Amino acid sequence: MNPGAPIAGIPPPPPAETGPAVPIGMDIALTARCPLRCRFCTVAKQPTPELDAAQWLAAIGGIAALRPIRLISLEGGEPFVRPDLARIARGALAHAAELKIVTGGSLPLEERLPRELLCDPRLTIEVSVDGPQPIHDELRDGSWEAAWAFIGDARRRGARLRLRTVVSELNREAVVAWLQALDRGFADGAAPVGFRFDTLIAPEALAPLGGPLPRHPLRGYASRGLIPTPEAVVGLFRRLHAERFRNLRVEQTEAFRGCGAGRIPFVSFDPAGGFSFCCEAPRGFGSILATGAPQLLALLDAQMAALPCRRCAHFAQNRCDGCWTGQKCGMTSAGGLTDCRALLDSAGAHHALARSGRTLRRHPEGAAAPPR
Ligand code: SF4
Ligand code: SF4
Repeated sequence: MNPGAPIAGIPPPPPAETGPAVPIGMDIALTARCPLRCRFCTVAKQPTPELDAAQWLAAIGGIAALRPIRLISLEGGEPFVRPDLARIARGALAHAAELKIVTGGSLPLEERLPRELLCDPRLTIEVSVDGPQPIHDELRDGSWEAAWAFIGDARRRGARLRLRTVVSELNREAVVAWLQALDRGFADGAAPVGFRFDTLIAPEALAPLGGPLPRHPLRGYASRGLIPTPEAVVGLFRRLHAERFRNLRVEQTEAFRGCGAGRIPFVSFDPAGGFSFCCEAPRGFGSILATGAPQLLALLDAQMAALPCRRCAHFAQNRCDGCWTGQKCGMTSAGGLTDCRALLDSAGAHHALARSGRTLRRHPEGAAAPPR
């Protein structure tokens, strides 16, 4: 999809949500290192330079001086391999309304985040878990025990948690029963746990995306035959919202994987500071070290102004939170379609979501980066 192309039959867009008052999001891959080798991780595990804490805090501060920051997401690789994670997290919270740390939970939590940081109500720790133990271990390198030790420790210590599952044909049918069991297991009086899912990424669909410069590359894998149909994804979304969970909170506002780019302008950084506006794109627009915050924000505003989402019925009716690339993380071309609107149409999303009886709202935390 050409992001700037006019869309036949769709009225002109409202004024673009750009400019100095519009909050942005930052998605920072602190490292490509990780102890795990998950089957469907798109992070290429190859050595890459990493900005140090002082460089990240300078980058965040430079952007925050010019633009409010709604959310910073610290990811990887595995961000807990960074010994300076607490310092970066604390600095991020000084400038952003919310902070998220995305982890596979493979390293013990221990004292890596001091209590006042771990229990800050603006911090969410998002842990990737992909189903019951045999399925999770098969997909996520045998990490079930470590991940659930991490989750248990974080819950006991009062952290705000979200689970995130990558759905493929290998776990789709197990998800609902597994969540029902988790919901019962979480009835221990601790705070509710959030839940979201993403559909498996098709790396081949994203390989050419982004700006003119290379960033940290995507790791390819054979996704063919593993990505659920659009109908199945909408069906799962509807089913989860129809469930009466007591201790799990389904926080997802759109059926198809996405970063919510239409709601909040997001900048995604690789570990060396290379940036793009699609967190899954292996190509970028520059490096924060060379470009600086003003030029980065000017580029972001230009891209946001060209985004067609605010002219789209799916966006207006809260069925889709937007996407820079029109690929919805590969779902568009994986479904044999050339247009993201056709992806939503093909799934009968209007009817399926209407039947769910759910009131769709804006994304509660802005854009959320897909787990890797
Ligand atoms: S939704 Fe679109 S812009 Fe966002 S991460 Fe996925 S492909 Fe990139
Ligand atoms: S379907 Fe979604 S990503 Fe595509 S134009 Fe509409 S709002 Fe944007």
